[in-house]
Amino acid sequence: MSDHITRALRLLSDCNLSLVHAEDEQMLLSDVCRIAVESGGYLMAWIGFAEQDAEKSVRPVAQSGYEEGYLESVRFSWDEALQVGCGPTGTAIRTGISQINQNCSINPQMAPWREEVIKRGYQSSIAIPLTSKKQTFGALALYSSRPDDFNSGEVLLLEEMARNLVFGIEVQRDRHKRRQVEEDLRIAATAFDSQECMMVTDASGVILRVNKAFAKATGYSAEEVVGKTPRLLRSGRHNADFYREMWETINSTGGWQGEIWDRRKNGEEYPKLLTISAIKNEEGVVTHYLGTHFDITALKKSEEKIRNLAFFDQLTGLPNRTLLLDRLRQTMYASSRNGSYGALMLIDLDNFKTLNVTQGHDIGDLLLSQVAQRLVQCAREGDTVARFSGDEFVIMLTELSASEEEAATGIEEVADKVLASLNCTYQLGDTFYHGTGSIGVTLFRGHLATIDELIKQTDLAMRKAKEVGRNAWRFFDPQMESLVNERAALEKDLRLAIIGDQFLLHYQPQVVDDGRLTGAEVLVRWKHPQRGMVSPADFIPLSEETGLILPLGKWVMETACTQLALWANDPEMAHLTVAVNVSARQFHQAAFVDQVLTILNSTGANPQRLKLELTEGMLIENVKDIIEKMLALKFRGVGFSLDDFGTGYSSLSYLKRLPLDQLKIDQSFVRDVLTDPNDAAIAKTVVALAQSLGMGVIAEGVETEAQRDFLAGVGCHAYQGYFFSRPLPCSEFEQFAHRV
Ligand code: C2E
Ligand code: CA
Ligand code: CA
Repeated sequence: MSDHITRALRLLSDCNLSLVHAEDEQMLLSDVCRIAVESGGYLMAWIGFAEQDAEKSVRPVAQSGYEEGYLESVRFSWDEALQVGCGPTGTAIRTGISQINQNCSINPQMAPWREEVIKRGYQSSIAIPLTSKKQTFGALALYSSRPDDFNSGEVLLLEEMARNLVFGIEVQRDRHKRRQVEEDLRIAATAFDSQECMMVTDASGVILRVNKAFAKATGYSAEEVVGKTPRLLRSGRHNADFYREMWETINSTGGWQGEIWDRRKNGEEYPKLLTISAIKNEEGVVTHYLGTHFDITALKKSEEKIRNLAFFDQLTGLPNRTLLLDRLRQTMYASSRNGSYGALMLIDLDNFKTLNVTQGHDIGDLLLSQVAQRLVQCAREGDTVARFSGDEFVIMLTELSASEEEAATGIEEVADKVLASLNCTYQLGDTFYHGTGSIGVTLFRGHLATIDELIKQTDLAMRKAKEVGRNAWRFFDPQMESLVNERAALEKDLRLAIIGDQFLLHYQPQVVDDGRLTGAEVLVRWKHPQRGMVSPADFIPLSEETGLILPLGKWVMETACTQLALWANDPEMAHLTVAVNVSARQFHQAAFVDQVLTILNSTGANPQRLKLELTEGMLIENVKDIIEKMLALKFRGVGFSLDDFGTGYSSLSYLKRLPLDQLKIDQSFVRDVLTDPNDAAIAKTVVALAQSLGMGVIAEGVETEAQRDFLAGVGCHAYQGYFFSRPLPCSEFEQFAHRV
């Protein structure tokens, strides 16, 4: 046997051994190169794989023997168009035929590498293709230190070895693939047993497998569902369109995700987050569907709870303000498109605070809950009944007519119904309670008014309903609004006025029969920087409502008492009394008595000269407390006059209990005392009443001599009015006093 054959055989058998022992492809390739050098005695061996890149390069994947950077310093390709693609290796790959190069020094194929090859002592070489399934994917190249070193018998053996190598590579690749498949399967199996519920169906939707989590969540064991379709789980909450759309999405995109309600084996419906993925084979055909889902019942519950807390009133269960405003926004939007009217109805319970304070908050809460139920019954489907704040509820009526008149008629019905329903006896625990409500209504269409404006409008209208005596409802009308705006401006100015010293007092003389001056009523004046003199009739009621009357009243009292103290030094004035008007709010302050006494002390005014004018209206509630206050002041010498007498509802029985000094016949009776027999009778009666109660009497608003004479005729001998004098600034009043 020639040397050639001997080394090739050795090489072949050693290679076969390594085929058995190699653990992976790389090891096999490196082994074969090493064996070629060690057993075959070649100078150098390398294996290159054909790349599919643009240059069709040949990438060395294993090498052994003397090389000294050769493979890195040169390029290999299998591209016919390139010179480096036409060497033995490239040609072997391209043609699938072994290429023998017997002399590196002269072979023109070797031109690109010649220098490097000769430098390293490579004299001859062979490139053997590696071919699998008729596809050449690489080559094994062997280099010898002698020229003409490859004979034909050897080449056959080497080709046999190359075939074995290819077989070995295939085995390794298969093994690798198998290992990967095994791994994938292991991962899949682990994943399949996760907490997430999983189901695999075949392409026609028949269930093949489900995991433990699935069984636990649905209540169905694997045996019960395998062979069936997921239709078994349907809750009936979704219609056919829902499922059709779902399948359309799966078919077009390969998957679907969404919330879906299914039914457990025990019949319970529950929400889940479902993901369906189509599994396709290499040809792109769907072979399976994988459905994974999470039970989101708990999630939904907490979501609902949060929603509940955020949007519903916990006491009544009604939508709260936030939800109402949100729905109002939507309704306004809808109304702007379809042109129909909507309405807001603000319902305020009458005297709720009193109930709350006297009976306790538990009883108050009971009432609110029952009111809520009654309101819900008054509303139509689609309307929203909401708890707006403490004892305020709102009903939002939607989709009323597109005609304002018709819409308004619709509302009237509802409003009457609500009033009637609230006006029925409530049973609150052991007690029965009778309550009513006052309602303000406003219409809206589209976005003509903002939400804030609408709310304000209902509030104004509701206040109007309260003003007319409660248990009533009122429509908002724009006039209300301008009035209110004006009031708001006035209120602002009023606050400034108190700080800014814009008030002064006028004194209106009070006289007796012969014209003798006995004192004056103090009337406050507001010198507004822009408006000029503002009548107290315009700002007293407002300052009562806003509480500004308290600082204002205190100022009046202080100023009047200071004046009294000054006049005490003037013999002409020292005997005069000063009557100061006291408003209800002022008088009902807990510290009112103290306040007056403190002022009397600090100014040094004589209490005997001070008279307080109270009105009937303020003397009805809390009579005991009123009497105590009056007595405390009376004890110090302060007198009391009952202003505007006859206009209120005072009954004689309690008049008797009040320590009053004087009744003041209201100017409305005085005005027509000569022409209206009724007024004349009243004036006469008041005088008689005062006499019988041991009180004095004074008539105000006396403008003519005839009126004065009539009053004198019936026994009233004290007067105040334009006939004697208008209210005067202090200095003019002093002149008036000195003149008479
Ligand atoms: P009032 O207490 O009934 O005061 C009498 C009002 O009648 C005064 O109006 C006075 O100017 C007016 N008057 C007096 N004589 C005649 C007359 O012969 N004919 C007519 N037509 N009117 C006459 P004024 O000053 O505009 O005060 C209006 C109301 O403002 C007062 O009514 C009183 O309720 C309130 N007020 C005025 N000053 C004060 C104050 O300092 N404190 C409080 N709480 N209220 C005040
Ligand atoms: Ca008065
Ligand atoms: Ca009066």
